[in-house]
Amino acid sequence: MALRHYNFCAGPAALPTDVLERAQVEMLDWQGRGLSVMEISHRHPDYIAMAQAAESKLRQLMGIPDNYKVLFLQGGATAQFALLPMNLLGHKTHADYIDTGIWSAKAIAAMAPYGVATEAASSAEVGYQCVPSQAQLKLNEDAAYVHYCPNETIGGLAFDYVPDTGSVPLIADMSSTILSEPIDVTQFGLIYAGAQKNIGPAGITLVIVREDLLGKAQAITPNPFNYALQAANESMLNTPPTYGWYLAGLVFDWLQQQGGLEAMAEINTAKANCLYQAIDESQFYANQIATANRSKMNVTFTLADDALNAEFLQQAQANGLLNLKGHRSVGGMRASIYNAVPIAGVHALVAFMKDFEKQHWA
Ligand SMILES: *Cc1c(COP(=O)(O)O)cnc(C)c1O
Repeated sequence: MALRHYNFCAGPAALPTDVLERAQVEMLDWQGRGLSVMEISHRHPDYIAMAQAAESKLRQLMGIPDNYKVLFLQGGATAQFALLPMNLLGHKTHADYIDTGIWSAKAIAAMAPYGVATEAASSAEVGYQCVPSQAQLKLNEDAAYVHYCPNETIGGLAFDYVPDTGSVPLIADMSSTILSEPIDVTQFGLIYAGAQKNIGPAGITLVIVREDLLGKAQAITPNPFNYALQAANESMLNTPPTYGWYLAGLVFDWLQQQGGLEAMAEINTAKANCLYQAIDESQFYANQIATANRSKMNVTFTLADDALNAEFLQQAQANGLLNLKGHRSVGGMRASIYNAVPIAGVHALVAFMKDFEKQHWA
């Protein structure tokens, strides 16, 4: 068996070894057809059956109600930053945005050509170390929607509540938190996520959208990025990322085998608690995020002496602990512990961190 190191990359991120092994087995001969799933038309009934099965598995895992469409699109979450106003503004001119860090700020900046992004609240003044409370949100009743990022992948900051936006649809960038725990889909008008953190390989962007929000796209919206058109065409208006869709389906199978999202949430909580506890018990490592808003997916931490960063990373790698470098914009370290990172990986990381501290800190 190939040696698999523990991979803490923020994205494209670790995939479950079981999934990669199954893909390997099916690579040359998919389900006895004598070809790979990559080499078949997306119009072929066998491919369509696989694609639909993947969607129903996702619907089951997340409890997605029938009045929501599931779209498998391209362009990443970044494309969605522009496609949201293009598809959802309709005759309205503005939408409310909550600013909690780099990704929500990018969504705000991308809105400018299409309408006005009104700031509902920002945690910039507190260094993005906590999220604004519900009471702090300044929401406009006539906003087209309210946008937020439940988990800021770079800062390691997560909402501990779902904002109540009344009758205004709530839009969530769940790129780094989707499928990590059960959610109530009915609290959202639209959920989107790039695949490469918790769904599958890069190339697919998932959009889960309530049907009544469809049909308001501006005339300039390119057809492949028109939600209503893609919904009417089962996400196959043009060629979808066929292999990514297939791999996402394998990940959904794997999640079902693990016991679904309740079971994943339990493991993910245990993983995060273990890592934060190690950080809190140490004088050498630190995390600045308010306890209630600590991300369970992206654990950021700093060393007491930045001069030791390079050695920490180099020794971690030598110990089979990969990709712990924090994002270039914030520095320090970041351990992304998505679904595919097993608790054994977190235990190995904690053991390494304790060891490193002993070697380098009195
Ligand atoms: C990774 C990420 C993005 C960007 O995804 P792309 O696929 O690179 O466009 C956006 N938002 C969040 C929360 C992310 O984690």
